[in-house]
Amino acid sequence: MTTSRSTAEWQALDAAHFLHPFTDFQSLAARGSRVITKADGIWLTDSDGQRILDAMSGLWCVNVGYGQQALVDAATQQLRELPFYNAFFQTATPPAIELAALLAEVTPPQFRHVFFAGSGSEGNDTVVRMVRRYWDLMGQPQRQVIISRVNAYHGSTMAGASLGGMSGMHAQGGLPIPGIVHIQQPYWHEHGRHLSKDEFGFVAARWLEDKILEVGPDKVAAFIGEPVQGAGGVIVPPATYWPEIQRICDRHGILLVSDEVITGFGRTGHWFGCETQGFRPDLMTFAKGVTSGYLPLGGVMVGERVARVLIEHGGEFNHGYTYSGHPVACAVALANIRLIQSLGLVEHVRDDVGPYLAERFEALRGHPLVGDVDTCGMMAALLLVKDKTDGTPFTPDLGLGMVCRGHCFREGLIMRAVGDRMIVAPPLVMTRADVDHMMDLIHRCLDLTLADAR
Ligand code: PLP
Repeated sequence: MTTSRSTAEWQALDAAHFLHPFTDFQSLAARGSRVITKADGIWLTDSDGQRILDAMSGLWCVNVGYGQQALVDAATQQLRELPFYNAFFQTATPPAIELAALLAEVTPPQFRHVFFAGSGSEGNDTVVRMVRRYWDLMGQPQRQVIISRVNAYHGSTMAGASLGGMSGMHAQGGLPIPGIVHIQQPYWHEHGRHLSKDEFGFVAARWLEDKILEVGPDKVAAFIGEPVQGAGGVIVPPATYWPEIQRICDRHGILLVSDEVITGFGRTGHWFGCETQGFRPDLMTFAKGVTSGYLPLGGVMVGERVARVLIEHGGEFNHGYTYSGHPVACAVALANIRLIQSLGLVEHVRDDVGPYLAERFEALRGHPLVGDVDTCGMMAALLLVKDKTDGTPFTPDLGLGMVCRGHCFREGLIMRAVGDRMIVAPPLVMTRADVDHMMDLIHRCLDLTLADAR
């Protein structure tokens, strides 16, 4: 992009025309947005030339970091050769075919087929249509209900936002749509402090069984969850939770869907979060890390239990997107996955930088503001509390998380606030030295926040 303007000019133009996602339009106009102009490795540069350590990987997606030439080359070559062709009506392009085969290789063994979409939200819309179609074909059309969780995030389309359990989203636009119900999330700090984490994992999983029995087991189509809730605040469930969820789904024959939009492609120290958390989904939504965010792409891995029925008995599946299998996005995804393989990033997260991040976060428990920490691979959260001894929170109107986030922004660190949970999901290419640098910034921002809290 060659146009160059001053920051004030960008901000004025932005406020005049651009309605941003998840943004209060008036406060954006009053304060102006921060305009990011360049990036390299783990660093962003804004329009004032300030460098910022991107501890959120863009929006949980830039797994291989910025400036990877292999991805740029893959896009450039594919743009020259064939910038677009669709995958409708028995047509295909080489990158989409190659990517489907490579995804079958890197995903767990029950997955041999993929349905491509343009985003995670579109992937989850596909899940809703596909699981209901599956049960129709199985002669059980009454199985319509999908169970999800409070404080889950599954996207912003009507179905994605309905599957999600964000009260602020449900309050706008008449959501959730019919046939989607929610159970409580497995958040130990809020719902299980009187139990050990392992005991709480069983209790929280049994909320699923209670809901299945309430709805009627013959009416439930599927359960969907993120292996680790991301946007909800990096809620890492107890180790007992997902295996028990698996047993409950098996017992009632309901489909298990893992939303891997954040946890896929190495983020948790395995290729997919379900492998880290020890369960075996029938369907798996992906997006973000599949291209490291260099181009939009999402989709659903379809396990053989569902794929065989759709293929052998389904006839035409009346569903698809113009950009399902977009050749340039698929070419970038191929280059990205091969780069993750050749750099050994999954092992790097599992054996080296992930455990190091966990160690450094654990040490934050010594800080006067930090009441709890959670980590899983390259996802981490710390909880700001008023009283460490019993976990008493600050009053919400203090907005301390946002205060802390403001300090991070000014100090050159992107860290996200979910209430008073401060979270990071840094690029997987980070070294231990990068982690040290990030932790220095986090310490400084916590100290500045502490001074404000007193
Ligand atoms: N699912 C999860 C777990 C997500 O975190 C997100 C986005 O953050 C989505 C789905 C929606 O993906 P997209 O924004 O690509 O539609």
